[in-house]
Amino acid sequence: AKKAGGDRYEFFTNAMQETALLHRRLTNDLRVAVSEGQLRLVFQPIVRLQDGRIAKAEALLRWEHPELGTISPVEFIPLAEESGLIIEIGDWVFREAAMRAKQWSDKFRSNIQISINKSSVQFHSIAYANGWIDYLWEIGLPGECIVIEITESLILNSNPLIAAQLAIYRAAGIQISIDDFGTGYSSLSYLKKFDADFLKIDQSFVRDIENDPSDLALSEAIIVMAHKLGIQVIAEGVETERQSAILLEAGCDYGQGYLFSIPVPAADFEKLLEKQSAA
Ligand code: C2E
Ligand code: CA
Ligand code: CA
Ligand code: CA
Repeated sequence: AKKAGGDRYEFFTNAMQETALLHRRLTNDLRVAVSEGQLRLVFQPIVRLQDGRIAKAEALLRWEHPELGTISPVEFIPLAEESGLIIEIGDWVFREAAMRAKQWSDKFRSNIQISINKSSVQFHSIAYANGWIDYLWEIGLPGECIVIEITESLILNSNPLIAAQLAIYRAAGIQISIDDFGTGYSSLSYLKKFDADFLKIDQSFVRDIENDPSDLALSEAIIVMAHKLGIQVIAEGVETERQSAILLEAGCDYGQGYLFSIPVPAADFEKLLEKQSAA
């Protein structure tokens, strides 16, 4: 028994060592990924449920590792946060997204909103927030074309630095969306204090909305509450026509998910916009 226990211990340490090694390697590789152009953004349409038109898109990071292939953000974002690289990466994401929003808003002569994800580590300095506003001025993009997606825990964080930066974004017209709604600490009182533009119902509520009455009840309640507070609602992870119909019926404003489109490269997203403007 002792031996088995010993073996198991060894097995665990080996696995842990391997994970630690891989993490260190990926973190080192991530350092050059930005400068070598290995990161790219894909865009997932966000569709108005009333008429099915693409109103905006969420920009999502992809990493084409030269040897390991495509690495999911679920894997590398935590490494980027731990190492602080997320600061530089997030700056790149913002510029790239803003540049696309500008390009498409000009081309299609109506504002295309692009939303980006911003983690709490990226709320470290006021100068960082001001840098983004300067960039909008530089390229002549209205703040309204950018949406920043943040999580509930960030709003609940009472750090005055965070509140100050959110105020800077808001003053520039940038909109704020609450991501993964319903999965966090969910103290609803923050919704009263914090005026968000959008709220995204987490996919975990949408997944079973057809069969699970409590998921439907929660989604309906979230939508009613949000609307009373002047917040528009986006449902995440919409995969079936049925889910989309139920959400529309419940008064949900927008849907995002594989039913409409997977996240696609910029050129493909532009084609989707072209198709819709020709129709
Ligand atoms: P998220 O912000 O909740 O993004 C939505 C995720 O759901 C994306 O995964 C998207 O591809 C996926 N998704 C979209 N439609 C469907 C669907 O119909 N069904 C299912 N099952 N999934 C769907 P992705 O692209 O792998 O991103 C994962 C997470 O990585 C994001 O979750 C976000 O938290 C983070 N992330 C991605 N890009 C960035 C970034 O630029 N900055 C930061 N800080 N985080 C990012
Ligand atoms: Ca998001
Ligand atoms: Ca989300
Ligand atoms: Ca989610």
